[in-house]
Formats: sequence, C-alpha cells, structure tokens
Amino acid sequence: MTLTAGVIAVQGAVRAHADAFSRFGEAVEREVHVEPVRTAGIIPRCDVISIPGGESTTISRLIDQQGLSEELRAHVAKGKPILATCAGLIVLAANSGDERVTTLDLLDIEIERNAFGRQRDSFEASIDIEGLDRPFPGVFIRAPVVSDPRDTEVLAIHEGQIVAVRAGAIIATAFHPELTTDPRIHVLAFGAAAR
Ligand code: GLN
Repeated sequence: MTLTAGVIAVQGAVRAHADAFSRFGEAVEREVHVEPVRTAGIIPRCDVISIPGGESTTISRLIDQQGLSEELRAHVAKGKPILATCAGLIVLAANSGDERVTTLDLLDIEIERNAFGRQRDSFEASIDIEGLDRPFPGVFIRAPVVSDPRDTEVLAIHEGQIVAVRAGAIIATAFHPELTTDPRIHVLAFGAAAR
C-alpha cells in the first residue's frame, strides 16, 4: 500500500522534503506519494507529515489562516507521525520564546530562536542522535534550540544545546535532515508507519 506523506507547503523548503520522502521510500522499500499541504482537507488523508523550515513567524500565521491547526492536532491525536525541522520545530512548541510566533503547543518544549547567533548563521556538524548508530550530518540554518525540553525526550545535543527531541510520534530537529541524502532520521520518524 502506498504511504501518503503530507508536506506543509504554506512557505519554506517544500521540494527538499518531497525529495527526502522519495529517499525514505527507497530506504524502506515503500511507495510514497507526496502531497503538498497548502489548504485544509489534505492532512486527514495523510499517513505521515513533515513540517519544513522557513520563517516560523510566517509559517505559524499561514497554518492558522489556512485552517491547518485543527487538522494537525487531529493527526497527532491519532498517533500519526510528524517530522518537524527548524521553523517546523518552533511552530510545534509550547512556547517559541517570541511573541510574534503563535505556536501549536503540540510539543511541550520552549524554544530560543536563532540561537547560534549571526556569526554562525549556517553550519554543518556531525550530530550524535539517540537511536542512530553513527553520527548524522546536521545542516543548521539560522537554527533554533530547545531552551527547555520539560518532560520531552532529548534525542541530540550539540555544543550543550538541545537540537532534537521526540514526544510520542513527533520528532523535531533544529537542523535539516531533508538537505542531506541520509534517510535515517526519516526512517526513525516514519519507519513504523511504513511497516
Ligand atoms: N530562523 C528561522 C525562524 O526562526 C528558522 C530557520 C529555518 O527554518 N531554517 O523561523
């Protein structure tokens, strides 16, 4: 059976996430059909969802305007998986640390946006991730960090900062697994849904 993967496409790096789903499909030997999600009515058909990076101020506003918030809540309530990257991580948090970003509060964490500072807007680093046997190539672009994970499971720490978490079927990373050719985080997030 084909797995239907929704990519929240209101703004941000949608194409890279669609390509990452293709690589994931090859890795788990499943047909994956990607649906860009810009309007309500698509999420209920999706088995799995990814929420890309971009500008969390814009993404959170558009998710709300397009009526996607309730559908995302229902997706999570059904125990279906989400992979959220960078701005996606911010959008799911309980608190973005920035009043301009109204978050969905689906992950009980607090965020510090742009935490690695202007001097180091973008960088790559090898990241040890709970559940992966080898380090993962982390691509960070104006990345946030999790300033308080509360009771959420921490999956990765870089330079003392929390850069990946998991709660239930949600995995959220401060970096961009979709910008590498390594499908292991997608397998971690969506492997069970593909079986
Ligand atoms: N700096 C962006 C924000 O705070 C996130 C950057 C990204 O998604 N690559 O919304």
